[in-house]
Amino acid sequence: MNRIVCKFGGSSLADAAQFRKVRAIVEADARRRIIVPSAPGKRNAGDTKITDLLYLCQHGASVRTDLSGPFGQIVERFVEIEKSLGLKPSIAEQLEALHAELARGVTPDYAASRGEHFCARLLAQYLDAEFVEPADCIVIGANGIVDPRSYRLLGERLADSRRRYVVPGFYGRDGEGQLRTFSRGGSDVSGAIAARAAGAELYENWTDVSGLLMADPRIVEHPRPMAEVTYAEIRELSYMGASVLHDEAMAPVREAGIPVCIRNTNEPDHPGTRIVAKLSPEVEKATQIAGIAGKTNFSMITIEKNLMNREIGFVFRLLGVLEHHGISFEHCPSSIDTVSVVMEAEELESKSELVIEEIRRTLEPDDIDFVPRIALIAIVGEGMAHTVGIAAKVFSALAAASVNVRLINQGSSELNIIVGVAPEDYPTAVRALYKAFVE
Ligand code: ADP
Ligand code: ASP
Ligand code: MG
Repeated sequence: MNRIVCKFGGSSLADAAQFRKVRAIVEADARRRIIVPSAPGKRNAGDTKITDLLYLCQHGASVRTDLSGPFGQIVERFVEIEKSLGLKPSIAEQLEALHAELARGVTPDYAASRGEHFCARLLAQYLDAEFVEPADCIVIGANGIVDPRSYRLLGERLADSRRRYVVPGFYGRDGEGQLRTFSRGGSDVSGAIAARAAGAELYENWTDVSGLLMADPRIVEHPRPMAEVTYAEIRELSYMGASVLHDEAMAPVREAGIPVCIRNTNEPDHPGTRIVAKLSPEVEKATQIAGIAGKTNFSMITIEKNLMNREIGFVFRLLGVLEHHGISFEHCPSSIDTVSVVMEAEELESKSELVIEEIRRTLEPDDIDFVPRIALIAIVGEGMAHTVGIAAKVFSALAAASVNVRLINQGSSELNIIVGVAPEDYPTAVRALYKAFVE
């Protein structure tokens, strides 16, 4: 039988009522055999995710403060779920053991992983499914990315297509056998690994929105959902801030050609967004762009030097300075006599003076401009390559909204145009672009 992997995000498992919705979804299609849960997330806007409470407890234990506040909340939430679903009481005892472990001292990764672990334990019991321990079959490399050995290991563990399995998201082990998590939001990656390992026909990612929206719903009111996007487009959008999927979640399924669907646990009849290798001709014809995403946490250094174009290896030496300070850069747009480098502000933060000084010394520029905060906005779409006038539309929309553009970069894949604006202009700019391209 062909199987579907279903990953449920934190809000989809935030309380017992959400668990009930999850069971109804799983039971509605016999192919939904492999379930990958996150840890219980926020029940409402003011709530705290279990994962964040666990990090808090680990940190608290390491500085020997009293854990009873955050730990009490964790216990309360898991016990409520267990009790309301009528499951056999055992979670309180397991959490007591965790409390002792925390007090003795555990790594942040281990502490955080317990959210997914216990959530999966409860869900496996509730769905009458088999619990699969990811620390036995998902290997995470030193770079934080999945080790391809995982596909065989997990594939063997999920071999029986008549059974139903629950595999907690977010964690595995490293090459030395130590428990390790992916970066935040990493259950999306675990789901993709499970889909690839099981040779699934589809990877469903169940969340709290009815698919990928053309812009961040926290900025644009009721943005339009996309029926279909490509792996490349969603990778670009998620990397640039469309937080609905982890930006590394596409690699395992893309390589195996497994389609992905983003769907809403609270609106299960909505078809959501389908992620495919190539858009269908109707969708391709109807859309100019896939979406708009952005982030406000970048810094930029711009260097000006007369006749820079004649100095062989200039950019190479500039990037060498960054390498020397262990900084990875995001973009490096250039013109004849200027070049800018954009990086995450956090990477540069404490080192900015040292870096600028070293650039001054090694490159002897005429001028250096340092912008501590800049927002980047990506306008993404495969259709851009064969549509005239996209850039013009971007700039006239921003000009009409009185937004000053500080940087422009078009990827050579012609999949995106990136503009840099002041962080305070960010929401205005996103709304103006959305209006120009979508409304
Ligand atoms: P989960 O807990 O299910 O993994 P996340 O909170 O990680 O869910 O991701 C879903 C959230 O992503 C949505 O609630 C929404 O606020 C946010 N989001 C940001 N940009 C977009 C976008 N372009 N389309 C859809 N959701 C987006
Ligand atoms: N629970 C983890 C987090 O909050 C992983 C996830 O939700 O995907 O980051
Ligand atoms: Mg998520």
